[in-house]
Amino acid sequence: ASGYSLLRDPQYNKGLAFTEKERDAHYLCGLLPPTVITQQLQEKKLMKSIREYQVPLQKYMAMMDLQERNERLFYKLLIDNVEELLPVVYTPTVGEACQKYGSIFRRPQGLYISLKEKGKILEVLKNWPERSIQVIVVTDGERILGLGDLGCQGMGIPVGKLALYTALGGVRPSACLPVTIDVGTNNEKLLNDEFYIGLRQKRATGKEYYDLLHEFMCAVKQNYGEKVLVQFEDFANHNAFELLAKYGTTHLVFNDDIQGTASVVLAGVVAALKLIGGILADHTFLFLGAGEAGTGIAELIALEMSKQTKAPIEESRKKIWLVDSKGLIVSSRKNSLQHFKKPWAHDHEPLNNLLDAVKVIKPTVLIGSSGVGRTFTKEVVQAMTANNEKPLIMALSNPTSQSECTAEEAYQWSEGRAIFASGSPFDPVEYKGKVYVPGQANNAYIFPGFGLGLVISGTIRVHDDMLLAASEALAKQVTDENYNKGLIYPPFTDIRKISANIAANVAAKAYELGLATRLPRPADLVKYAESCMYSPVYRNYR
Ligand code: NAP
Ligand code: MN
Repeated sequence: ASGYSLLRDPQYNKGLAFTEKERDAHYLCGLLPPTVITQQLQEKKLMKSIREYQVPLQKYMAMMDLQERNERLFYKLLIDNVEELLPVVYTPTVGEACQKYGSIFRRPQGLYISLKEKGKILEVLKNWPERSIQVIVVTDGERILGLGDLGCQGMGIPVGKLALYTALGGVRPSACLPVTIDVGTNNEKLLNDEFYIGLRQKRATGKEYYDLLHEFMCAVKQNYGEKVLVQFEDFANHNAFELLAKYGTTHLVFNDDIQGTASVVLAGVVAALKLIGGILADHTFLFLGAGEAGTGIAELIALEMSKQTKAPIEESRKKIWLVDSKGLIVSSRKNSLQHFKKPWAHDHEPLNNLLDAVKVIKPTVLIGSSGVGRTFTKEVVQAMTANNEKPLIMALSNPTSQSECTAEEAYQWSEGRAIFASGSPFDPVEYKGKVYVPGQANNAYIFPGFGLGLVISGTIRVHDDMLLAASEALAKQVTDENYNKGLIYPPFTDIRKISANIAANVAAKAYELGLATRLPRPADLVKYAESCMYSPVYRNYR
């Protein structure tokens, strides 16, 4: 290739870091100014300029520009500055980016499959330049983060998630494919926005919707084989549950909103047992919110409980209660419940508010997953504290404004007794001279390592036991030093190591279940996982 095209290929471009020898060998002389600098200096320069932007969306755009210009440098920045840049390339900033995607759109970063492509999705897949794909993240844009229907502009989500697959989990960037399925949008604002990039029509539903998704799922398997992971992301909850159930038996599929959330929260609960005491089955769980997150977490907790006690899952489920927008889920409501709530309809009198439920059910663990903020009131936290020496309180709703309570409120209202973790990050809190560090139940702890584990073992189906294996590996990474600060998740700075451990445990489970196809099984799976992880350090071109 000519030097000029080398500079314009983000996979190979190194900018000023091309050495003298490389410049000579690859016809780059004169195309670059004379100075040669290191990747470290490039990183320093870019971090400086990103920090100078006051507006988060500007930081996001600078990062996206970098990804399109110099891929290795993009990942180097992301890996070395993970805590600082995660909120830029992912939530919360990616949400704003999706809302304004039409206006900030410069170059497509993934594959757009709309109703127009019906009947020729396989051909569309073949337009993508990379042949060997390992992970696809796909959205239909109907429930982007907590922002609702953003239609085709949801593309920011698969792009962002896959950047994390590479940065945190070490999956090669060229093996990642972001996909947005555009079946229209019900968002009037977007339909009337002259810069909107998607189909200008109301969402297709029913047979038309499911036919397009089916064509997509078949084309994916035909084109990339049985081992490609398809991660469903930010689908509305009726479709999310249905697609996962439908394709779980024929494809390698994973829903991060349901399963990834479940795995990360279970890890936090398991880790917290060291602080609050007992085994899972000794505890009573109460959820506010019975959607994708709430029921997904509840089911995985019940599953782990049953593994430990060898009791039937129906028994374990009885220790778990959920409250939805209509109050406590009880058996008298069974006929009017969506199917994913039915397992949680236990015998009890109806209760229509959370405080009453806390007082009557006496949970030891309270989990917020309703998307509604300020719902763990002072009375609720005090009721939890009255019943428990150390109540475990997880306020998972995002963004920060929707958190069920703040970290400060949790520690103050419980007089420093609560073990607290949240979906959105909170700063450490000082209460009566002691510093408490709240943990963040961030899905990014789990899905990159989970996906890597599937990929390196050549697994062909996701099994719930693999989610348990991921939780177990994550919980094990919490150190005594972390516990002493009240943390139930390990610090994010160690994420590559954490991901390798999760990947190894997931892969081990896949081999055990006979679902892995990469044979023979590597003896040391942690080492093997680490050796498979993408490194963003520049290569020498000879
Ligand atoms: P979802 O599927 O729409 O479910 C929301 C649930 O909350 C539904 O069961 C709904 O009740 C219930 N609800 C809504 N308003 C309520 C109210 N005022 N009182 C009681 N219940 C109420 O949403 P999701 O995907 O599960 O997400 C829920 C929240 O969890 C979001 O804020 C999301 O950001 C957060 N989340 C956090 C993490 C994490 O921390 N790692 C991961 C995933 C999600 P009905 O069923 O009666 O409508
Ligand atoms: Mn999501």
